Order: sequence, then structure tokens, then C-alpha cells
Amino acid sequence: STPVASFCAMLRAARMGIFIKGGDVLESLGEIRAVAFDKTGTITRGDFSIDSFHLVGDHKVEMDHLLYWIASIEIKSSHPMAAALVEYAQSKSIQPNPENVANFRIYPGEGIYGEIHGKHIYIGNRRTLARVSSPQTIQEMGEMIKGVSIGYVICDGELAGVFSLSDDCRTGAAEAIRDLGSLGIKTVMLTGDSSAAATHAQGQLGAVMEELHSELLPEDKVRLVDGLKARFGPTMMVGDGMNDTAALAAADVGVSMGISGSAAAMETSHATLMSSDVLRVPEAVRLGRRARRTIA
Ligand code: ADP
Ligand code: MG
Repeated sequence: STPVASFCAMLRAARMGIFIKGGDVLESLGEIRAVAFDKTGTITRGDFSIDSFHLVGDHKVEMDHLLYWIASIEIKSSHPMAAALVEYAQSKSIQPNPENVANFRIYPGEGIYGEIHGKHIYIGNRRTLARVSSPQTIQEMGEMIKGVSIGYVICDGELAGVFSLSDDCRTGAAEAIRDLGSLGIKTVMLTGDSSAAATHAQGQLGAVMEELHSELLPEDKVRLVDGLKARFGPTMMVGDGMNDTAALAAADVGVSMGISGSAAAMETSHATLMSSDVLRVPEAVRLGRRARRTIA
């Protein structure tokens, strides 16, 4: 499109709360046949709270020490679950100190790692537990701990802590999914979280998505976005995290979550929801469809 048409399209989109990176994006929005939503931070607020925290094993470590180590490592992470763990420690008057953490690492779709006071610590989901436990232990753990999202702490090669956390759906998410359905668009959920957490979010929404895919690594999200393109046609991916960047790039239109999301997602995406309002997604599709009719 011409620079002027392009600029007008960007302005129109901006007025409804979507920052688009060019006029072509608006035209692509009008062609979308399927939308893949990330769960954590996209469908949900990404505002977790810790529901329970248990020490596990022979209690060689003290709760206060473990929480201090966890919070000091997690404060270096921008994942929504990290903030919940830091707040949990602070609520017990434990102040994290990231300066004592060495060799910090992020494992997308799994969790994080750091060394502090000579301890080697992993914090993450079932993939983290699988570093030290048999499939049977993992199964038993999952059944024992009530909660939708479950996290594990491995200290020096042994399971030391288990916690559960939860998060609420964004207002507008259910309506956005129903509205997309009324536009004849397929919706699916792609999450790195557990299948229990995916099902819970779906239940809380009360709006049915065509498919739920869980325990995904970043490359799994890309594969599923490619599959949607092949099955349904032009596909949008909406996501907030570093783990979503490859899928955002693979989609025909990648949409990031504004200031509540990661900088990496914002850079890779074709459009950004300025106030993280997913209801803008179907509205953007409508705007795109109108723009196509005007151009044709
Ligand atoms: P989603 O696709 O739902 O946004 P992610 O791929 O970001 O999820 O993360 C997948 C899972 O990895 C999370 O549900 C969580 O269990 C675990 N995880 C990721 N980062 C962290 C972290 N900093 N601390 C604890 N757990 C984490
Ligand atoms: Mg996310």
C-alpha cells in the first residue's frame, strides 16, 4: 500500500488500541482464519499467586533458606510466575539478593537455573522434575499436590520444594473467543503450562476453543502455528512471552501484549495490543476486513 494509506491504517488501528507496524498488517488481519492464543499472560493476566509451598525430601534445607535462594534467582526472571515467588518470599520477610546469583540460565518452556551460596538450583515445571525423578514419581507428585499450575525446586540434584500457583483469566478473553467464532475464525490455546492449567483456564473462560495444546516448548508452538496455517489458512498468534517470539514470527500476524508482555515479543510481533486487551483482536480483524473491501 502507499505510504499515506499505510499511515492512515496505522492511525485507525492505533485509535482502537492496536499498534501495527505497517499498512500491510491491517490487510493481513482481514484475511485471518485461525488465532492461536498463548495462555499465561495472554488469556490469563499473568498475575500469579502462590497457593501452597511445601518442603520435600529429608528437610536438609530450611524453608527460609530455600525461599531466599529461590527469590534471589527468580528476581532475575521476567516470567509471570517469578514475580509470585518473589512476593511470596517477601511476604515472609525474606529479601532477595540477585547479586549472589551466578550462572543464571533460562530454559524456555521449563523454568530457570542459578547458583547461590554454592547451591545449584532449578525452578520450573515437570521438565525440571524430570531432571532428577522417574516418570512414576512425577505422576505421583502431580496427583498429591492439588493445584492447577505446579512448580518444582531442585537443589543440588534433589527435589527440595513443590508449590502450586494460580492465575485468573483476563476480562474480555471469553468474549474475544466467542466473537472470533462468530467471525468464522478457529481459536486454539498454546501453552507451556500443564494440561490441567489449560483445561482450568478453558473452564474459567466458559468459552470453548477448538483445541488446547499444553507443555509446549517454543519450537512446538512454531510447529503448531505452521499446522494451523496449513489446515485453515492465514493464522494469527497472540502471545506475551520470550517463549512466544518464534511462534509470533512464524504466524501471518504476530500480536504481542504491550507493556505487560516481554520486550522480545513486542520486537518480533507485527502488532501490539497497547493495553493488553484481547477484545481488540476480533475488532482488528473486522477493521482489516473493512480495509480490504475499501482497497478492492
Ligand atoms: P506459557 O506458554 O503458558 O506462557 P512458558 O513457556 O512461559 O508458559 O512457561 C512454561 C512453564 O515453565 C510455566 O508454566 C512454568 O511452569 C515454567 N516456568 C517458566 N519460567 C519459570 C520461572 N521463571 N519460574 C518457575 N517456573 C517457570
Ligand atoms: Mg505467556
